[in-house]
Amino acid sequence: MPKLWQRSSSRRRICRRIPSGVAVVHYELRNVNVAKCSICGTQLGGIPRLNLSSLRKLAKTEKRPERIYGGTLCHRCLANLLKEAARVIKLQRS
Ligand SMILES: [Zn+2]
Repeated sequence: MPKLWQRSSSRRRICRRIPSGVAVVHYELRNVNVAKCSICGTQLGGIPRLNLSSLRKLAKTEKRPERIYGGTLCHRCLANLLKEAARVIKLQRS
């Protein structure tokens, strides 16, 4: 019976044959997905690909860009959103 922490699906199982000829199972952490823009789907920069335990050790400013919608939208989509919002406000005032 594997140990309690090895029964979790959060770690992937890798079968390896060690030099003595015995097949063993290694438990590795899964890869973290790249953060993507929620509108266009491009990969976001400035966001580290770390698991939650490593992310917790970082400062808040190291986890995402320091602008509005930083970490959720790319800079191009944000610029388009701001332009649209400015045009809507301009129309409402006139
Ligand atoms: Zn985008």
